[in-house]
Amino acid sequence: MRRVGIIAFQGAFERHAQALRALGAQPVQVRTRAALAEVERLIIPGGESTTIGMLMEREGLIESVRQRMNEGMPVFGTCAGMILLADELTTSAPEHRDTERTPYIGGLAIAIERNAYGRQVESFETELAAPELENRPIPAVFIRAPAVRSCGPSVRILAQFEGAPVLVRQERILAASFHPELTEETAVHRYFIDRV
Ligand code: GLN
Repeated sequence: MRRVGIIAFQGAFERHAQALRALGAQPVQVRTRAALAEVERLIIPGGESTTIGMLMEREGLIESVRQRMNEGMPVFGTCAGMILLADELTTSAPEHRDTERTPYIGGLAIAIERNAYGRQVESFETELAAPELENRPIPAVFIRAPAVRSCGPSVRILAQFEGAPVLVRQERILAASFHPELTEETAVHRYFIDRV
């Protein structure tokens, strides 16, 4: 059975585990480098990117995840997870300027703004067209979500919301500004475990 790690310090990790089980994969909670070594791919969930980043750093996981990514491990980041994978953070919020560091893990050639959707609306659900994944629209929950402000040429846009990319892929890195694990729809997880 395919063992898929989920960084499990904080946030929506159990919902990712449910989606993986529904698809016949085995979720593995990752809080240590030893646990990371046991998995073949990794999900970095939503939550608070500063907190998850700090805890990963403390466990030496930032460096180890980077190394595994360089060796070809597929990674899927949702929301805060997308922030941790971004090469660049841009912020217009003065309260964030001191705490932002760029990048945490990095590797994904996007510039991202934290809490960008959150300023107008804390959280909302919508449907997105993602033809590469699914013929019908997929439901997407946004919670104080980051916005992708620019993408490098190696980044493929798989879904957009109001003209901005919200699901992107660069080789073996997949990232979503929204939370696919908070709906019953498993198309994004299926895409990650079968095709990334
Ligand atoms: N606002 C959070 C952050 O900046 C992300 C929110 C989420 O993961 N739902 O880390």
